[in-house]
Amino acid sequence: MPLIIDQEKCTGCAVCLERCPFNALTIVDNLAKVDDVTCTLCGACAKQGVCPFDAITLLREKKEAKSGIAAHRNIWIFAEQKKGVLQGVVYELLGKARELADVRQQEVWAVLLGKTVAHKAQELIACGADKVVLVEDDCLEFFEDETYSTVITRLCRNYKPEIVLCGATTIGRALIPRVAVQLKTGLTADCTELHIDPEKQLLVQTRPAFGGNIMARILCPQHRPQMSTVRHKVFPAAQPDSSRTGEIIREAFNAREKANNARVVDVIEILEDTVNLTEANIIVSGGRGIKGPANFAMLHDLAKAVGGAVGASRAAVDEGWVQYSHQVGQTGKTVNPKVYIACGISGQIQHLVGMQSSDVIIAINKDPDAPMMKIATLALCGDLFQIIPELIKQMK
Ligand SMILES: Cc1cc2nc3c(=O)[nH]c(=O)nc-3n(C[C@H](O)[C@H](O)[C@H](O)COP(=O)(O)OP(=O)(O)OC[C@H]3O[C@@H](n4cnc5c(N)ncnc54)[C@H](O)[C@@H]3O)c2cc1C
Repeated sequence: MPLIIDQEKCTGCAVCLERCPFNALTIVDNLAKVDDVTCTLCGACAKQGVCPFDAITLLREKKEAKSGIAAHRNIWIFAEQKKGVLQGVVYELLGKARELADVRQQEVWAVLLGKTVAHKAQELIACGADKVVLVEDDCLEFFEDETYSTVITRLCRNYKPEIVLCGATTIGRALIPRVAVQLKTGLTADCTELHIDPEKQLLVQTRPAFGGNIMARILCPQHRPQMSTVRHKVFPAAQPDSSRTGEIIREAFNAREKANNARVVDVIEILEDTVNLTEANIIVSGGRGIKGPANFAMLHDLAKAVGGAVGASRAAVDEGWVQYSHQVGQTGKTVNPKVYIACGISGQIQHLVGMQSSDVIIAINKDPDAPMMKIATLALCGDLFQIIPELIKQMK
C-alpha cells in the first residue's frame, strides 16, 4: 500500500479521519489504519498540514512505478455467465485472447464471478484460458454493476493485466466502463478487429467511427490495462480442447465490496417465441421497402418457413413497424448467420457493419444499384411484394 502511516509518529488523534472523503481511515488501538479496498489513494489525508504529526505519506513515485506499464502482463477476458451458463461471446473472446497472448508470449486469464460457478473453470481452460481467477459468493449470484466492477477493479490492481477484453453485452456495457474509470485507463467499445502492432507491441483496437464511414484504429499507449469490448459473433469461437490444463486461482469476496445502493430483488425472464437474432442461422430482415408494420407479418411467415428469425433496418425500427430488439447494424445487433435475406433494405454502411460477415446474403430490392444488391451473393431484382409470397410458397 503506497499510503504509509508512521506508527512512531501517529498518536491516534483522528484528525485525518475527517479529511478522508471515502471513509477509508479508522482508529484502531490508538493508531490510524487505512482500508485498502475503500482508499482511492487520492492523497487528501497526506497533504501537508493535515496530520499534525506528519505521520501520513503517500508514496506517489512508488505507486506509479508499481502500476507502471512494464509491470502489466497477460490477456484477461471477463467470463460472463448467467445462471451458470457461459455467454456465447466468452468463447469468442477466449479465441481472440489466445491469439493475442501467443503474439505477446503471455497467458490468457479468465475472470469468473458468481455464486457456484467453479464447475465452469475447466470449460474456460479447455477453450484457451491458462488461468481462471474465480470469485464465488452469494452476493455475486446476480450481476450487480457496482459490486462486480469493484471486485474486478481490485483483481486488476492486484494482478495487473496488460489487456482486458469483455463482451459488448448488456452486462458488459454496464460493467467494464466502471472498471476502466476506476483504473483510470482507456476503453474502446464495440471493436470489430483486435491485433498487436508488431512494432509498438500495443493492442490495435479497430472500430467503426463517424457513423460507420471510417474504421478508426485506437491505441492506449500510456495507461494499463488496454481495454476493449467486442460484440457477440464478431470473432470466431474458440474450439474446446479437453486435454488443456490450467490453474484456478480462488480469490475471496470481500463483504465491503458489496454495493449497498442497489439490490437485485428478482430476475424476470422475457420468453420470446422467436429465435434469438444473434444465434439464428437464417435471418429475414425488412427495411423501409416493407412499407408498413402489417407487412412484417409476411417476413415472419418467411422466417417461419425457413426456420429463421426476423431482423430489421433502423428505418423500419424508427418508423415503429418493429421493435428495436430486431435492429441489425451499428446501433443494433451484429449478426453472423449462414443466410441473411435483406428485403427492401438499401444497404447503408451502418446496416452493413452489422451483417456483412453473413455467409450468404440474399438481397430483394427493386433498385439494382442499391449497395445491398452489390454485396449480395444472390440479388433478386424486383418487387418484394411479389417475390416474398412466392418464396414462402416455395419454402413451404
Ligand atoms: C449513427 C447512425 C447509426 C445508424 N445505425 C443503423 C443501424 O444500426 N442499422 C440500420 O439499419 N441503419 C442504421 N442507420 C441508418 C442508415 O444510415 C440507413 O438510413 C438505414 O439503414 C436505411 O434503412 P433502409 O435500408 O431500410 O431504408 P432505405 O435506405 O430507405 O431503403 C429502402 C430500400 O427499399 C427498396 N424498396 C422500396 N420498395 C421496394 C419494393 N416494393 N420491393 C423491393 N424493394 C423496395 C428501395 O429500393 C431501397 O433500396 C444509422 C445511421 C446513423 C447516422
